[in-house]
Amino acid sequence: MKIDVLGCGSAFSRWQNTSALSVTEGHHQWLIDCGPTIPRALWQRGGDINDIDAIFFTHVHPDHCSGLTALLNYWKSFSRHKPLLIYSQPEQRSVLMQLAGLANWPATSLSFVIEWRDSTACWDWHHWRIQTAATQHEMANLAIRIDIGQESLFYSGDGRPTSESVALMAGSQLAFQECASLTALAHDASHGDFPGCLALFQQQALPRLGLYHCNDAILPALKQACLPYPGLFVSEDGLQYDISQQQFFHIEYPL
Ligand SMILES: [Zn+2]
Repeated sequence: MKIDVLGCGSAFSRWQNTSALSVTEGHHQWLIDCGPTIPRALWQRGGDINDIDAIFFTHVHPDHCSGLTALLNYWKSFSRHKPLLIYSQPEQRSVLMQLAGLANWPATSLSFVIEWRDSTACWDWHHWRIQTAATQHEMANLAIRIDIGQESLFYSGDGRPTSESVALMAGSQLAFQECASLTALAHDASHGDFPGCLALFQQQALPRLGLYHCNDAILPALKQACLPYPGLFVSEDGLQYDISQQQFFHIEYPL
């Protein structure tokens, strides 16, 4: 399983793309979230218009979904033909359908079919096992775990860990947790914080935990705070990780 960090920024980051990952295994590829700067991150990578099989949305705050319009418009403009699966919470689907409707407005169809699917607690896609769990966020947000054979990835989306999301994270080989603050936030807060992430990393004995969706201003101090803990790191745009090789790569995409 290969993970490509398309973006790891907070909603209004000046330096980083909005938070999203792509997950590739063989010829299968998923996109997790699609904020406003993610279409350009994909164009920089130069993949084929038919590469992505499915998009999973953790929730529909604009920094996680508003790039959908531009991405669908691009695929339509270059005549994508492969059907696209879009997984979301059913009560949030109408937002995504509006974004998709704008992709080729006023025409109503694209060059490919969108198959809308409910995100449930657990399902299989080909030989991938997908599981979700709610985090604590101002809008309902689903963390996702993908298991392929012995390889596993956890991605929190937005929000503070819950007992359900921590249980889903347990045992994953690579985990990403939203971490908005260097200092502890209130227990009823909508976001994760460094003391909580450090406790999770240690209590769960996670091999690798990437912090992301951090406010720009805390990034230097957060990187320093992670240094004493091998495996705990601040995620970066362009970071790629091959779980089978247990190796990180960092890719720069020239303009
Ligand atoms: Zn959010």
